[in-house]
Formats: sequence, C-alpha cells, structure tokens
Amino acid sequence: MTTKIPPKKKVKKAGKANLEALGVKGMSDILPKDGELWKLIMETGRHLSELYDFHFIETPTLESPEIFLAGLGEKAEEAAKKMYSFKTPEGEDVALRQDLSAPVLRSYIEHHLGYFASPLKVYHTGSVFRFGKLDNGNNREIRQWGFDIIGDNDAVYDMQVILASLEFLKQLKFPNLRLKINTMGCRVCRNNYHEKLKAYFRKQKVCGTCKVNVEERPLRLFKCVEAECIEVRKEAPIILDHLCQACNNHFKAVLELVEDNGVLYEPDPYFVREKEYYSRTVFEIYSGDYEHSLAGGGRYDYLSEMLFKKIIPGVGSALSLDRILEQVKLRNTMPRARNNNRVFFIAVGEQAKKMSVRFMNTLRMNNIAVVEALGKKTLTAQMKFGERVRAPLALIFGQKEAFENSVIVRDTKSGAQETVILEKLVEEVKKRLR
Ligand SMILES: [Zn+2]
Ligand SMILES: [Zn+2]
Repeated sequence: MTTKIPPKKKVKKAGKANLEALGVKGMSDILPKDGELWKLIMETGRHLSELYDFHFIETPTLESPEIFLAGLGEKAEEAAKKMYSFKTPEGEDVALRQDLSAPVLRSYIEHHLGYFASPLKVYHTGSVFRFGKLDNGNNREIRQWGFDIIGDNDAVYDMQVILASLEFLKQLKFPNLRLKINTMGCRVCRNNYHEKLKAYFRKQKVCGTCKVNVEERPLRLFKCVEAECIEVRKEAPIILDHLCQACNNHFKAVLELVEDNGVLYEPDPYFVREKEYYSRTVFEIYSGDYEHSLAGGGRYDYLSEMLFKKIIPGVGSALSLDRILEQVKLRNTMPRARNNNRVFFIAVGEQAKKMSVRFMNTLRMNNIAVVEALGKKTLTAQMKFGERVRAPLALIFGQKEAFENSVIVRDTKSGAQETVILEKLVEEVKKRLR
C-alpha cells in the first residue's frame, strides 16, 4: 500500500485588505472586552437555575439529523436542505444542532433520566445553527441558554420556564418586559381549527405565496407581511374559539398563573409555531421597544412521540444570548465587575524575571489576581502598561530586590511605596488589598 502525500498547500498570508474576511459569515466572536459582561450573564443564569432547581445538562454539537427532522413528514426533505449536515469521514450522517430541546429529549430517553427525576428540570447553554438570511444581525450560529422541564404537562411547569426566563432578563435590568403568549391546542382541537382557517382563507383575496400555503400550512398566513394578507387575517377564526375542554383549561391555568405573578402579557392569537410537535402554550418575551424577542419557547408534548414513539410531555424556553449581550452592552446598565483583588507585577532584569514567575504563582494560589507585562524589557514600559490596568497595587521586583529577597509594594493611587521581604509578600499584599 502506498500512501500519497498530498501536495503542500500554499498558505495564503492574510493581507491587510481581507482581514475581515477571515471568519466564517454568520459566526461571531465574544471578545475579551465583553468577557466580564458575558461572565455576568452566565453567572446570572447559573444562580437562577439553582434557585429554580434546574440541573445542568450538556449535549453535543453534533446530533443525528433525524432528531431535527422527525415528525415533519413530507416537509422533512425541504427542511433537510436547510440544515447544516454532512457525512463524517467514517460515513455517518450528522447535523449541527438546530435547537437544544430535541437533543435534551434524546439524552433523557437514552439515559433514562425520567427514573431519576420526575419531572426532569434542566438548564443548558450552547450554540444552535440555523440556515437563513444573514442580514439584520441574524447569525448562523446562535448562542442560547435553555430551560426545559420534561415529564409533566401541568401548567405550573409552563409557568416555571416562563418565570425563570423573565427573571433572567429582569436581573440583567431589561426594562418593560412583556410576554407574548398563545396556545396551539392539541391534535384533537387544532385539526378542526385548521380546517376552519383554510375554509376562511380560501374565500379571501390573499397574496400569491399565501394562496400556495393555504392548503398545506394555513398557520403560515399569520406570518405574511403583505398588507392585503394582514388585513384579511383580522377577521380570521382564532384558536381560542375552537379549543377542546382540556386545552382550554390548560391555557386558562397558564394565564391565571401569569396574572398571579404580575407578568405583563399580550395574548396574541396570530402568534404561532408551525412545527407539529408543539402543543398548547407558545410564548416569546420582549423588552421595551427592542424589536426582537429575547426569549421564546413552548410546550412540545408531541416531540418525544415523533422522535422515539414514547409519549413524554415537555416544555422549554430558550434565551438568545447574543442579542442579550448586545443589548446589555448598548444599555450599559450592568456594572462591568472587575476583580479588585489584583496587583500588577513588574520585574526588571533577567534574573528577577525568572524568579518572578514563582512569586506570581504563589500570589495567584492565594487568590490574588496578578497582571504582568514581563515581555516588555524596561521599567518604564512596564509601568506605562501597568497604569492602564488600574490595579490598586504595583509590585516592583528589580535586580537589587532579587539580591535582597525583597519586593517594592507601591500603592498606585497615593504613590506611597514600601519594601517588603518576599516571605511576607502574600500577607502584606492581602493586608493592603483589604
Ligand atoms: Zn385540545
Ligand atoms: Zn400573504
């Protein structure tokens, strides 16, 4: 057997002109300058999850494509074209996940999680990948935080994912939060409703696209932005008039809880989710006059049956973390917390630099954050960098100090400085940072 060595590829050097083109379209970075806010968002989520008794779960980025296509029937072929899927070198079909709830449900079944908790309440964070127009701030990769409750269809669980999502945004100081809410009914009542909807739209003058959609997907007509269609749907039958007793009771129970908890809400009969696994409650959360939803979700009581032929109810919510970060930054309402428990370490001379690595580590292992610019050779250059860091203390370690086993501790505000022996460094620094 001969192994062919592929010819060396010419590596293009990134010229100045096309630096922006290095990243893949529709993918974004979270930069160090936003790191503190990102951490704050994550910590808010973790803290809330603990208070609401949601437990951590993480599923992989790649799943089997069927997970996202099940239950779509004839529409699966069309949906598959809009999925980021590929064949692995080993010949398996895989897909980048499109949402987080389906993989969580897959994990629930695979690991029999229902035996350990009923219902199972989990939170998770990660990216989902969606095909679509990349303008208007839409990305292919969307970072999300999710809450899911699997194994019970009681309205109290719908309310808990809604409340956890609302509180998440409230803690990040989003103003005027409001809940858009509707019900999708169940298989019993919604088929009847869809027939009524078709019968109504057939008799109306709608745009060309809607005309095509009436028979197969009448709910899509609620999403049309053509003026004539918007006008026509004002008189369209609404699901609330066609709910079965059980769905009616469920929606009533959710709305009562919404009111009990003082949540500002707008029932919107034209707000729908088309995927057939959704049942009953669907919702989105908005803040102030920001046009996009910050969170959204719903009950997916049919998903498990479509995927795994097992009837397991579930409800979930996903928060759009990219939008949340962007808005928190714009609004500038959250403190950019910085660790004030830190020092700037300056070392001059090769010997001092070498020794300083060990001292810095000792400080760090004593919970004191240490910033340095040891790559810069001179005292002035390091000092200059240190000014930007704004640490309360600067530690200066030069040739003389290295020889004397001491270090100069300088208060960066007052400029007062003192020589401290290395043995007492941690103790002295702690005392001054207090
Ligand atoms: Zn029903
Ligand atoms: Zn239309």
